[in-house]
Amino acid sequence: MSVPHVPLHVSGHVLLGDEREVGELWVREGRVSLTRGAPQGSAARELSGWVLPGLVDVHCHIGLGASGAVDQETAVTQAVADRDAGVLLVRDAGSPLDTRWVHDRTDLPRLVRAGRHLARPRRYLRHFGLELDDVADLPDAVRTQARAGDGWVKLVGDWIDRDLDGGGDLRPLWPRDVLTDAVVAAHAEAARVTVHAFSEEVVGDLLAADVDGIEHGTGIPAELIDEVAARGIPVTPTLLQVARFEEIAQQADARYPVYAERMRRMHARRHEQVRALYEAGVPLLVGTDAGGTIGHGRVADECAELVAAGIPAADVVAMATWRARELLGFGDVVEGASADLVVYPADPREDIEVLHHPTAVVLRGQVVLG
Ligand SMILES: [Zn+2]
Repeated sequence: MSVPHVPLHVSGHVLLGDEREVGELWVREGRVSLTRGAPQGSAARELSGWVLPGLVDVHCHIGLGASGAVDQETAVTQAVADRDAGVLLVRDAGSPLDTRWVHDRTDLPRLVRAGRHLARPRRYLRHFGLELDDVADLPDAVRTQARAGDGWVKLVGDWIDRDLDGGGDLRPLWPRDVLTDAVVAAHAEAARVTVHAFSEEVVGDLLAADVDGIEHGTGIPAELIDEVAARGIPVTPTLLQVARFEEIAQQADARYPVYAERMRRMHARRHEQVRALYEAGVPLLVGTDAGGTIGHGRVADECAELVAAGIPAADVVAMATWRARELLGFGDVVEGASADLVVYPADPREDIEVLHHPTAVVLRGQVVLG
């Protein structure tokens, strides 16, 4: 499938980094040019406004539905919903569907796959992850997923243990030494490990094991926040997901009151937690946790939640674009870079709600929306 490239002239406020703004750029054959070059004549299409590099959703499960893997057609619909919301780069944070074919679809966002989530029986949502009967198998399973994915492995670090005396509560899934061996195995495959972590208890293990990312991070204790910051470990707060904790607590009230009370407490202080991470200098990332329970295409909602938590909009824009691109190895939008851009009618750093209304989405130099 090859669509002819219409050259583009993009003007206004083209934001490319924290201190980097240009007044215009050109797109030829799918590539960004920051120099005028040969005149384009009337053939160039004009796009104008506030322009960002494509947004990045680092926790977005393409291929996952409410009851596990979806079919390919549904996965395409999910990816298109993300794309049309301005997300042009996704790290999937685990998917039960093998989605490597997305790489061949030039009309879909760039995808960094994390393979299958690794979990244990009865210690995660059914049909979502690969469940290991024996925790000692984790390092081998990580190696396999690292080889199957695109440089990331996703572990479920904690979940409700329903078999505890006195009722279920969140507990780590993996002994610290096993977790450490698993991270070593991933790093030996040049893969990074990010871990689902709701609870306080798991965070010490994650630091000891030297993980590369923390998902949710609702329980990172105050006394460990500085260490997370000093080590530069990115945290993806997934506030759309954490907003559901009250609902999860209600469902758990009757059978698992201890767990319910904990989820309710973390829900109540979710904004405070994100602000504490931000103020300590922890690198934060934007992840919708779409797939499963949350719909795709909601990146602007997650960004608005982060601003509601007290993060300045300009920082949220940076987290959702160039900072995440750099973390995933995509670098700055420079001369010759793939033209993955989103155009807005106003400055999202002034009003984050603007992210809900892209006027054009340009993926690989093609205007896919607007
Ligand atoms: Zn998730």
